[in-house]
Amino acid sequence: SATPLAGASLWHAQAHMPTALAKRVTIVGGRGATVITADGAELLDAPAGLWYANVGHGREAVARVAYEQMLKLETYHVFGRFVNDVALTLADRVTALGPIPDAKVFWTSGGSDSVDLACKLARRHWQLEGRPDKRIILSRNNAYHGLHGFGTSIAGLEYNREGYGSDSLIPETARIPANDLAGAEAVIAELGPERIAAVVAEPVIGTGGVIAPAPGYLEGLQRLARQHDILFIADEVITGFGRTGTMFACERFGLEPDMVLMAKGITSGYAPLGGVLISPRVWARFFSSDDAPILRHGITYSGHATACAVAHANIDILEQEHLLERSAELEGVLHNAIQPLADHPLVAEVRSGTGFLAGVQLRADVPGEAVVDACLDAGLLTRVIHNNTLHICPPFVVTDDEVSFIAKTVRVALDQFTA
Ligand code: PMP
Repeated sequence: SATPLAGASLWHAQAHMPTALAKRVTIVGGRGATVITADGAELLDAPAGLWYANVGHGREAVARVAYEQMLKLETYHVFGRFVNDVALTLADRVTALGPIPDAKVFWTSGGSDSVDLACKLARRHWQLEGRPDKRIILSRNNAYHGLHGFGTSIAGLEYNREGYGSDSLIPETARIPANDLAGAEAVIAELGPERIAAVVAEPVIGTGGVIAPAPGYLEGLQRLARQHDILFIADEVITGFGRTGTMFACERFGLEPDMVLMAKGITSGYAPLGGVLISPRVWARFFSSDDAPILRHGITYSGHATACAVAHANIDILEQEHLLERSAELEGVLHNAIQPLADHPLVAEVRSGTGFLAGVQLRADVPGEAVVDACLDAGLLTRVIHNNTLHICPPFVVTDDEVSFIAKTVRVALDQFTA
């Protein structure tokens, strides 16, 4: 088994994993909404890892299921004639929970995989429909869709696309404004809808700074897509599995996309798993009969049995502990606790109130990483995302008091930087 790292050996290990940050904090344990550092400090995990630890850390029931599944069968790939039973039962369950009637699911290893697959399916769909010119993938400014080929190429955060040379990026992508339907319509008109394959959108933009959809925006975008025969793809990698109080955000906003992307919350981080929910309109071409063109796609760990077993255990917890209801309740608790920070002289904007997630955007001249340090010293883990924004989306098992602690600690930390 791995030797616990401490002191000098910890520094030695750090030397072999690159990081952009001089002061890295090593996490060695977790329990509920709290993580434990190599130095023994307990930190409230405000970002839930990277938006994934929805049911909280250290769940024995999940660990037990993983152990038992590994002993029975670690996995069996889901290629061609072979499939494992757990991938099948999870497919039944998740398609029933999802927002697309009669959906099929294609399992992946995570969010970036799901983005890549959905963009490939969108282009191939139009090829098979005899409309091969429909190729452009639209995404929103400020969007984050992972960092594989398509995700990098459609990134709405410029710095995710920079530095590789344009020939490394997948051509025929374009950005629409994040929250402006008329702007989206103008881009569609300019490019020509006959050239556009799909539009990809996060219901609530996460990494781009926690940006809620303007009222009616998502519904309008879906309508616009339908009107122009453009596939509508919801990236629910963050919002899926309860973050906005419903199993999927599509439910909350009344959306029925052509594809829905999942990862993170499907296992709450206990195992790497992602998936794409695919509507009949899209899958019919790929899977309708033995004569239909076969989708030549699959990765070794699609439908990984242990990851799928863990997903079942995770969804059991969401259901048994009524954590969607709790997430919906916490949305208001967090909103009420965090909004008063908008008055702080170092805060530019506080974004909260649509789902159990918030972004506290600091003024551009505030040293965000130093604020994070001050929070760490006070027992709060947070991180800085796009536009000097503090990322707050705790596990659904936090208490109301812990949510107050987050707001209070951020305020005290900011006060240290007020002249
Ligand atoms: N889409 C969204 C909306 C995400 O937030 C992320 C991850 N932050 C991804 C895709 C990529 O997922 P992964 O890191 O699992 O590849």
